[in-house]
Amino acid sequence: MPSYLTTNTIVLRHDTFREKDRRVLLYTETRGKMEAVARSALAVCSKLAGHIEPLSLVRVMIAQGRVFDHIAGAVLVNPFKYLRRNFRAYTCASFICEATYRLIKPEEPDGYIYHELTDALHKLNTSLHAASTDDFWWRTPEGGIALVYIWRLLAQLGYKPELTYCIICKTAKDSAYFDCDHGGYVCDVCARTVISRARYALPNPARTLLQELFAHDMQPNIDAQTLKQCVAVIVQHLLYHTEKPLYSTTSFRYSTNLF
Ligand SMILES: [Zn+2]
Repeated sequence: MPSYLTTNTIVLRHDTFREKDRRVLLYTETRGKMEAVARSALAVCSKLAGHIEPLSLVRVMIAQGRVFDHIAGAVLVNPFKYLRRNFRAYTCASFICEATYRLIKPEEPDGYIYHELTDALHKLNTSLHAASTDDFWWRTPEGGIALVYIWRLLAQLGYKPELTYCIICKTAKDSAYFDCDHGGYVCDVCARTVISRARYALPNPARTLLQELFAHDMQPNIDAQTLKQCVAVIVQHLLYHTEKPLYSTTSFRYSTNLF
């Protein structure tokens, strides 16, 4: 007899498996990232298929097998349907889900990450109703929701960069660059002596904003240059740790126009 697990989950992605099955990648509340097979999900009469679409919140029952776990039942809790009608929100949601499954190891549950991921999808789902103004930031609020999630995800996974003092000389001087190789900011003096393959401009205002984003969401009226510097650091810090580019980076960049 298989044992069963019932849990809420975000469906990160799925792909075709065997002739009519789907292999579904989940971020579950109780077991973290895991894979499960949805039998006959590609069959025309499948009752399961509509409940396991990527970027949705689902309550699943998983039968634990010797080789593969199987989805024994699924109920759609929130399909985030408005998110699917907004191209920018959809590409942002795809980007954060891909970053999540690329960065997180299987079977390591983390309540904070689960909460942040569902919260980001909820925000993207309601971003259609965000006020539209001429402010640079509010033209692309979905991009900010995604980047704040990515920034906190990296910190939670142990990739939190040092932003309180220069990572080389260990003194709290003005920041000049963000250095992915060393995992923090470097001052102007150290930047002249230390070689780095991945270094991006990070003056003090951008550094302060990056520190605030660990606890607070993006606010409007941030000047465009500071925002672009922060965006560059978050994206490059992410790509540095995923090692390979994310497939959804191009559509994310195209739809948000943030970098
Ligand atoms: Zn220094």
